[in-house]
Amino acid sequence: RLLGTPTSSSSALISASRAFSSSTTPIKATLFPGDGIGPEIAESVKQVFTAADVAIDWDEHYVSTEVDPRTNSFLTRESLQSVLDNKVGLKGPMATPIGKGHRSLNLTLRKELNLYANVRPCYSLPGYKTRYDDVDLITIRENTEGEYSGLEHQVVKGVVESIKIITRKASMRVAEYAFLYAKTHGRKKVSAIHKANIMRKTDGLFLQCCDEVAEKYPEIEYEKVVIDNCCMMLVKNPTLFDVLVMPNLYGDIISDLCAGLVGGLGLTPSCNIGEDGIALAEAVHGSAPDIAGKNLANPTALLLSGVMMLRHLKLNKQAEQIHSAIINTIAEGKYRTADLGGTSTTTEFTKAICDHL
Ligand code: NAD
Repeated sequence: RLLGTPTSSSSALISASRAFSSSTTPIKATLFPGDGIGPEIAESVKQVFTAADVAIDWDEHYVSTEVDPRTNSFLTRESLQSVLDNKVGLKGPMATPIGKGHRSLNLTLRKELNLYANVRPCYSLPGYKTRYDDVDLITIRENTEGEYSGLEHQVVKGVVESIKIITRKASMRVAEYAFLYAKTHGRKKVSAIHKANIMRKTDGLFLQCCDEVAEKYPEIEYEKVVIDNCCMMLVKNPTLFDVLVMPNLYGDIISDLCAGLVGGLGLTPSCNIGEDGIALAEAVHGSAPDIAGKNLANPTALLLSGVMMLRHLKLNKQAEQIHSAIINTIAEGKYRTADLGGTSTTTEFTKAICDHL
């Protein structure tokens, strides 16, 4: 499974990974530290990767202070090109001002790089107690259209219109990804989450595509669940689900709900998948302006996103080594950030993870 508990002994992993990385030329990966807590948690990732001898050469890109007319965004064409060239990257959160300004940075990345699926694993961390011990879910979010199409305008004073776009192309692509993911990761069931009883045309088309793809995977159990019922079921018994695939906005909301089941947004990673093998990993959370610059942020979600990036690069031993160090640090309980009920700063928690490598 994508982010399951490591099985091998950590000391064997350390020597194996060091031997591997020392004989390997560094892999170039784009790094967007991002806004708010982004630079603090990106620094944490860099420190842990360095301590684990991971052979990554970070190509760092910052959000520009001026709009690039080529992208109509504060992200420059050069930054986007870096991801296209490197094909792999890690992204910190990027703030989106509410109700004003230029194209959202996140939307720019998703659209320009055609990052069509966002994979959001959510699982109980051994040693960190919540109401549930056995959460193990994968939310796969369509990432390019739906309510995020950016088509909004005022019809007349006091009336605005927002257009939800669902296409067969994007729906088939994300459904194919979800079923293939389930098959290749030993998952048993895919649930298509929708509101087709009300959004008959849009969610109806999304469901029709999921139905078509499901027929090609008879070995994977398939069900359709209305989103409101899905929320209730997730809170009551998260083990009822396995892989969930859904349109864009539903994925945004459901994955935060899932984060709440296992301890909060400080813990949940994700990876954006694009065509031509592009993978851009990022935490599920945003820029957390309320704690930015205070050395309070939990870097776990971005670190686990980095682990997803390493797995994508087939650097599995280093991925497991870092994963174990994070899990063991949290389980030990001596160093935890405030969101997990601890008193450690981001820096102290990061050092503790490095000491557990
Ligand atoms: P948020 O995820 O930034 O914060 C929600 C709450 O969770 C806050 O109380 C915050 O302190 C806490 N939190 C989040 N990450 C944490 C961490 N690593 N450690 C400890 N606590 C953490 O959501 P928001 O406040 O709604 O959004 C802030 C900004 O981020 C907005 O501009 C929004 O558009 C943007 N955003 C960006 C992304 C992204 O870049 N992918 C995702 C979501 C939100």
